[in-house]
Amino acid sequence: MNSAGIGMTSNRTRQRMIDRLRQRGIADERVLQAMAEIPRHLFIDEALAHRAYEDDALPIKYGQTISQPYVVARMTEEVIRDSLPGKVLELGTGSGYQAAVLGQLAGQVFSVERIDKLTRSARRLFIRLGYQNIRCKTADGHDGWPSEAPFDTIIITAAPETVPFDLLDQLVIGGKMILPVGDGRKQKLLALVKQEHGYQETFLGDVIFVPLLEGVVR
Ligand code: SAH
Repeated sequence: MNSAGIGMTSNRTRQRMIDRLRQRGIADERVLQAMAEIPRHLFIDEALAHRAYEDDALPIKYGQTISQPYVVARMTEEVIRDSLPGKVLELGTGSGYQAAVLGQLAGQVFSVERIDKLTRSARRLFIRLGYQNIRCKTADGHDGWPSEAPFDTIIITAAPETVPFDLLDQLVIGGKMILPVGDGRKQKLLALVKQEHGYQETFLGDVIFVPLLEGVVR
């Protein structure tokens, strides 16, 4: 088998993923375009790479998961709904796939992961794929990234049991925090828009994410 053949196959299967996202209601062409350009199979263990373009969450290392393409697309639509954000903070880098999608659309992406080995492998991928606007670090996401605040958007890709309201301090007024909230196997996906006083909340649907945990793993 030559590598050109493999590339064509994965381009075709990637296009099928995009078609399925469209059928499921993802309408923002900017999101579909970004996801069509990113080789999701590189964000997944080789043993599972053949399933990279199915619309499923898949296991990555250290008991974590790469989010389902539909959920990545939904959250990204929400991030860019009003305008393309200048600065985005992501909590829960994981494989780095969601950060890469954001890297195609936002000015700068800052991503925090608590498991150092995941941060390192995501960073290697960002370099390999040529993203110069994504920075990542190992830290507890509960702290945000204070030295880079304020952000236009904060996207949390692991579920806290309750809304971490302190993080609203790291958003601009009018900025948006998109996050799953809840315990156990099912959570609510929420968008909170920060106002001068307080915030406005929108329910986006039911989702399943791994929990947002405390502390870092070196
Ligand atoms: N956005 C990821 C999804 C990763 S799953 C992707 O596209 O692949 C959620 C990730 O959040 C896991 O890697 C987990 O280790 C991480 N996580 C959990 N609690 C965290 C915390 N307090 N701070 C930073 N990352 C955290």
